[in-house]
Formats: sequence, structure tokens, C-alpha cells
Amino acid sequence: MASVSSDKRVPFIAGNWKMNLDHLQSIAFVQKLAWSLKDANHDFAKTEVAVFPPFTDLRSVQTLISADKLELGFGAQDVSAHASGAYTGEIAAQFLKALDVRYVIIGHSERRQYHNETDELLAQKIAIAIENGIVPVICVGETAEDLELHGQSAVPVAQLRAALALAGGATNIVVAYEPVWAIGSGQAATPEQAEQVAEQLRLVVAEILGDEVADATRILYGGSVKSTNIAGFLRKPNVDGALVGGASLDIAEFASISQFRKHVGT
Ligand code: PEP
Repeated sequence: MASVSSDKRVPFIAGNWKMNLDHLQSIAFVQKLAWSLKDANHDFAKTEVAVFPPFTDLRSVQTLISADKLELGFGAQDVSAHASGAYTGEIAAQFLKALDVRYVIIGHSERRQYHNETDELLAQKIAIAIENGIVPVICVGETAEDLELHGQSAVPVAQLRAALALAGGATNIVVAYEPVWAIGSGQAATPEQAEQVAEQLRLVVAEILGDEVADATRILYGGSVKSTNIAGFLRKPNVDGALVGGASLDIAEFASISQFRKHVGT
């Protein structure tokens, strides 16, 4: 078995479906994924696995997971910064909580880029998720231009500091380091690059939320993760899992990524 990042933290493989699969497709997908993992004797206590479907799938996924007592987790891809009211098209944290949503992705680079989400707005979203008992999966990462101008960790570190501005007292967060240049490009960061930034991000968590929380916080790498490169990331001491986009839509591939412990030597 490949050695794993840390004994303190349960590795976490998270599949971000983005705007793919409707609610009927989500049911078939989750059933097949659950079966693939069962077939591979997946131990969820050793590696947590969760899917992040579109909002309209969440009720179907919740019902299936609960009825079949599946160990697979699920989360949402975004949440409103507001508790309720006149915010057409938005989804409240309270509504997600009512569907047993365990996680919510906040600050994905596609939200930052296409919806102009600012650090201030993201800090509010993180705070409201935490208030409602939903674990934020906080995404940070530099663009290719940032990389050239500021190096690799300056932007993600600044984004995480800003994101945690209203999160004082939080004990349960997940951080995803996703270099924007690596997302969907087929060109993943190296495990060494991911480790270097993850280490800096853990220091930020320690500075704002304390050493104990920093020790317990899972830091994921995201950007062109596949079954052939996952093991290299998970061997690094500060990388505790992956946020997977494209490859999370391929059941066999996502199951194989979730089974990263078997990819010795890859
Ligand atoms: C993502 O969008 O979060 C992501 C990591 O995508 P991909 O795995 O396709 O690079």
C-alpha cells in the first residue's frame, strides 16, 4: 500500500461534477459508483469519498444515499452569502442543511472568474456555511499570470487569509489548493509544487484558527487529477486528498482515484 500523507487526517477524495448530470443521471451515477467502490472493498473510514452534484440533484442523491445507507458523502457546489430573502436564484445554507448536505465548495475559480466572486463575499459564504454546520471546501489558487508575477503560493495564501476573515472559532474546514492553470488543462502541478503551497496554507490555518485546527484540516490538491497521478500527491505530508473535476464524471476513473492506496509506484 502507498503510504499516506498523515495519520492524523482521513484522506478525502471529492468529485466536483460542475454543471453535469441531471437528477435522473445522478441517481444512476451514484448507484454505479457505490457499487464500484463496494466491489473494490473500499474502506470509507480510511478514505472519505464525496460527490458534489448540481443543486437540482441534491434531493435525489440525498434520498438514495439515505435509503441505501451508502457511506458516500455529498456536498453542494455553492451557497448564498445571505440567510434568506429577496435574492432571486440563490440557495440558502439552511436549505442545504435541510438536505443533510455535509460539504459546500466555496470560491471555486470558476465562481471567482465567471461570477466575479470577491474574497469578501467568499468570507461571508464561509461564515454562513459554518453557522449552519456545513463544512466549507475553500478553494484557492493562482492563475498562470499570478504564477509568473508572484510565484506559486502568494495568491493562494492571500486568498485563504481573506476567506477566513469571518471564520474565527471554526474547527472544521477543508481547503482545496487548485492552481487555475492546472484545472481542466491536463497539466497537473507536480506533487512537490502542491506540497509546497499546501504547507504554506496550513500555516495560514494555524495562524488564524490555531495549531489544533491546522493539524486536523484536510488540504486537497485539485487540477487535472487522474488515477495515474493521485498517489504522488497523497504521498506528500501536507496533501490530504483531491478535488477532482473532469475525472469525477468517469465512474471507473473516480473509483480508481478513490482507491489511490492501490496505486503503488504510479
Ligand atoms: C476543478 O474544477 O475543481 C478541477 C480540479 O477540475 P479538473 O480535475 O478537471 O482539472
